[in-house]
Amino acid sequence: MSYIEDRATWFEGQGLWQHIPASDWRDWTWQLKNRLTTAAQLEQFMTLTAEEKAGCAFANQKLAVAITPYFFNLIDRNDPNCPIRKQVIPRVGEMVISAEEQLDSLGEDEHSPVPGLVHRYPDRVLFLVTDRCAAYCRYCTRSRLVSNAQDYNFHPEYEQALRYIEAHPEVRDVLLSGGDPLLLSDKKLEHLLSRLREIKHVEFIRIGSRIPVFLPQRITPALCEIFKKYGPIWMSIHVNHPKECTAELREACERLSFAGVPLGNQSVLLAGVNDDADVMKALVHRLLRMRVRPYYLYQMDLITGGSHFKVDVRKGIEIIRALRGHTTGYAIPQFVIDAPGGGGKVPINPDYLEQVTDDEVIFRNYEGQTFRYPLKSTPKKTPEGATIPQTPIESVVIY
Ligand code: SF4
Repeated sequence: MSYIEDRATWFEGQGLWQHIPASDWRDWTWQLKNRLTTAAQLEQFMTLTAEEKAGCAFANQKLAVAITPYFFNLIDRNDPNCPIRKQVIPRVGEMVISAEEQLDSLGEDEHSPVPGLVHRYPDRVLFLVTDRCAAYCRYCTRSRLVSNAQDYNFHPEYEQALRYIEAHPEVRDVLLSGGDPLLLSDKKLEHLLSRLREIKHVEFIRIGSRIPVFLPQRITPALCEIFKKYGPIWMSIHVNHPKECTAELREACERLSFAGVPLGNQSVLLAGVNDDADVMKALVHRLLRMRVRPYYLYQMDLITGGSHFKVDVRKGIEIIRALRGHTTGYAIPQFVIDAPGGGGKVPINPDYLEQVTDDEVIFRNYEGQTFRYPLKSTPKKTPEGATIPQTPIESVVIY
């Protein structure tokens, strides 16, 4: 059945926490203190399936459970197949480890010159600043270290990392990630951003965060002032399903945008969550309405215990094909596979190209019709009979 949503409505309000003063609800520290972290706490509000109970029993050896009250409200407690529920409540499938899965599926640890810093590509580094998140995604690529359930004992060394970046003038791009960088206090975040801004060769600073989605209350005016002061700071948020696009998230995105933070979105293609063209179309349309440009759609990394979320790559291609030409170009993310072991992101596209010869390109459009684009200019007679000289294609300037 195709996904149908009420486009005029944005989820809002305190849901199950109506009795809490609005000032507490809007306080991000209250949301963190009141996270649901055990099966017993979840069962105060819902009936867990046997699969989920077994998943919760195992979770603390893999990735902790934590769900903010704000995000818990988005779960359909009567539907075991709710796409929001699947993302944050563990299921027994996490205990199944397949041969091709790896703890460090992108080979980050072997490119880490300093604890917390990954330097794989010449001009950019990944700066992991914490192992904590507001809530934990059951398909997390960094579940080996995030929440420390696997005793990884992650201890980022900020000063060492900053000195490393200072000493490497080839690094022009720094991505703050984790864990979730926006869980740091304003003071720590400001310290990191100010130090990075002092490094002349660092041109581009970006943050990967799911905080706006799990904890939009964290996007405070004070935090936005920090982004303004040290901007431009780019941010990739992480929304997988249109139900996550609430009034509170939309307002948080507005605050970030008005502070000059360009926003992109990264989604992971997840079985039973967003492996459907109608769901993805609803999501990308909501993202644009929230001032967020859909950026990447990821084939899920080969993380341990992730096979129950795995989707056939052909489904991702089908989703992109269903979007391209059928909706706004800005709405279409790039579908990528992050090459296992650390080969980088590789774009995976529907095959529109049929043939390229010296004379022409033959391709299909979004409706499957075939078109030809000539690569050579054919001399043509003027009305008076004079021949127009042929212009080499490289010399044509398009204004
Ligand atoms: S927010 Fe990001 S780092 Fe944290 S659990 Fe989710 S995917 Fe992993």
